[in-house]
Amino acid sequence: MQLDPADIATCVADDGPAYADGAAPASTPIVATSLFSFPTFDALIAAMRDERTHHVYTRGQNPTVEAAERKLAALEHGDACKCFASGMAAISAVFVGLLRAGDHVLFVNQVYGPTLQLAKHLHRFGIEHDVELDVGIEAIARALRPNTRLIWLESPGTMLFRTVDLAALAELARVRGIVTGIDNTWATPLLQKPIDFGIDLVAHTGTKYIGGHSDIVAGALIGSSERIDEIFRRAFMLLGGILGPFEAWLLLRGLRTLPVRLAQHERDGVRVAEYLRGHPAVRRVYHPAFDDQPEAVRRQLRGYSGVFSAELKRGDFDTVRRVIDALHHFRIAVSWGGVESLVISPNRGDNRAWLQRQNLPTGLIRFSVGLEGADSLISDLEQALDTAR
Ligand SMILES: *Cc1c(COP(=O)(O)O)cnc(C)c1O
Repeated sequence: MQLDPADIATCVADDGPAYADGAAPASTPIVATSLFSFPTFDALIAAMRDERTHHVYTRGQNPTVEAAERKLAALEHGDACKCFASGMAAISAVFVGLLRAGDHVLFVNQVYGPTLQLAKHLHRFGIEHDVELDVGIEAIARALRPNTRLIWLESPGTMLFRTVDLAALAELARVRGIVTGIDNTWATPLLQKPIDFGIDLVAHTGTKYIGGHSDIVAGALIGSSERIDEIFRRAFMLLGGILGPFEAWLLLRGLRTLPVRLAQHERDGVRVAEYLRGHPAVRRVYHPAFDDQPEAVRRQLRGYSGVFSAELKRGDFDTVRRVIDALHHFRIAVSWGGVESLVISPNRGDNRAWLQRQNLPTGLIRFSVGLEGADSLISDLEQALDTAR
């Protein structure tokens, strides 16, 4: 893991304003207010001209939320950031804010399920979409249409962890006037900076590694000031999916330990992945460290987080369920990125056709390696995999 020292400083820094005597709080104050009053009506009118950068009403802007936004914008090398109530609120705001009837969206790589469900609902508003699971640039170029307005991708994806060449994709889109957006949740702003490769918009769910303790749901978008402004005016303020000041404070607290947590997630994640790769009951481990495009991975990623998957040789649902149920340290749950290790499978026992359409093997199990220590996790897997022989 090669973190940028400036990023570590940004994560750890406090953001509390100093009092009159110069004393500053070590923890950013939670500004629990719905509204801000002004000394004169003229001052209020002036502030209302730009509610994104002025404190008028907490559905628009709030100082605690703004402190989190400043940090996330700096970490992603973007001009501006807007925080949202959830990752899905952030992603929804991109679609509602930027698209119109007749537009086409191309989804690249395995994309978060609810993102695709949202795209299906947008058919009602005349917005079409396709999914391109082949992450090669030629395949992506072939899937574009004259009316493609947005390419939305994940890299690495969060099932098979395949990598898309971000610079090549950004160039392909730029010459055609297509907006590009990435869900960068797996890598966090510390491990991948898509804006540096020419991607226009970066989405995060703060629910995963950034919050890091499975105690908040939060989201964020980072991009140019113009684009974030457009989304702010046309979606954020109107849909109302705001991050509350308390959740923003938890997000800030999560950011302060993100660099140290990621270092252990990476170290233990790779150790557990390597253990699984050598296990006779495992056919294949899907982890960016084992990607078949090592050049692109090296260029784009400064390290790995702790989420990856493994495919059992015996891919029937009973075996998948038996292994999951036998685990003690890995809790059985959705989501990932917290201090506790988690396990899940896309195989639900009744969705074979869907798995086939998504190119997902039936024996796939996804792990989120937490902070319990690799030795405990490996001995847990050892006994659970005995049930898969
Ligand atoms: C969890 C997740 C989301 C959704 O985030 P919420 O905060 O739950 O809305 C989006 N993208 C990815 C990759 C996720 O894992």
